Amino acid sequence: MNRAFPWHAAQWDQWCRAFRRARLGHGWIFSGRAGFGKFEFARACAETVLCESIKADALACGQCRSCQLLRAGNHPDLRLVVPLEDAISIGIDQIRELGEFFSLTAHYGRAKIVIIRPAELMQHAAANALLKILEEPPALGLLILVADAIDRLPPTIRSRCQRLRLDAIDTSLAREWLAREVPSEPAQLDAAFALGNRAPLAAQAAIDADITQSASRIEQLMITVGSGRKHAVQAAQAVHDVAPTLLADCMLNQAHRFALAQLGLAGLSEPQSSQSAPVESLISALNHLHSWQVLAFAARVLEVKTLIVSSANTRDADLLDQLWRTWMLATRPAAGGHPRSQVQENS
Ligand SMILES: [Zn+2]
Repeated sequence: MNRAFPWHAAQWDQWCRAFRRARLGHGWIFSGRAGFGKFEFARACAETVLCESIKADALACGQCRSCQLLRAGNHPDLRLVVPLEDAISIGIDQIRELGEFFSLTAHYGRAKIVIIRPAELMQHAAANALLKILEEPPALGLLILVADAIDRLPPTIRSRCQRLRLDAIDTSLAREWLAREVPSEPAQLDAAFALGNRAPLAAQAAIDADITQSASRIEQLMITVGSGRKHAVQAAQAVHDVAPTLLADCMLNQAHRFALAQLGLAGLSEPQSSQSAPVESLISALNHLHSWQVLAFAARVLEVKTLIVSSANTRDADLLDQLWRTWMLATRPAAGGHPRSQVQENS
């Protein structure tokens, strides 16, 4: 890849202005939620800086020696720092090695670039070591920190870097891109975007993994269970092949959309072309529900999801069963008592 994603046009322009004016400085933080292409953006920046025959639009040529080495993943002037295998953080030794990397002359004389990802996983000592590099930056050194959670980086590091936020995007551009990349029905694109929490690359992954098909099955089952035409046990059996975390996410997503739609706020979280959004069928099938019932259900699903994530000993079948029973109790019309108590009784 030698270009930024279309939804990053404004950020790309901003970065290129700094590049053309030789004002890149030595440190950048590219931040924002996962699934928006921060790392790809960082790579495109590195390609531009290192390319020996840059194009008029500031994109790398893709042909020169530098571009070919980058494509092959072994450009001597680019270093990628990620958590080592079996590690959940970036250690001090990995950052100390950068001192040696920066001390060597740039092979192609343009820059020495380091991309750290996810930068917020640096251990305290590693962050301190990085701070020393930022305080006395090497002449041709450029550090790019890619971070999902910028607020977990020390303020001393944040203050020494220029910043770009890459998850504030034009959703319509992202949808056009997704429709080109993975041609799909509008309803499937809507479902993928919703499942991916509006992040285009996460939506693409959802379609690639055929997660949207599972989501559609789950939605239909929520309708049939919610309207009393199927029992929770039957529903759990019908989607026994779905991971409990995916089921919980789909249920939460539907509950969220349903509650918003009931409040007349559906458009706030829906993509622009979602007139065909299947939430309509969910609403008409479950119009006996109150918003609070759906929200109480969502709270319970969150509890079960926490259990799923934290416990390796619970059987998937039990968790699936539990989630469907929660939905069945939440949607059962109140009989002789307040339905809120039914949700709690099951917890
Ligand atoms: Zn090139």
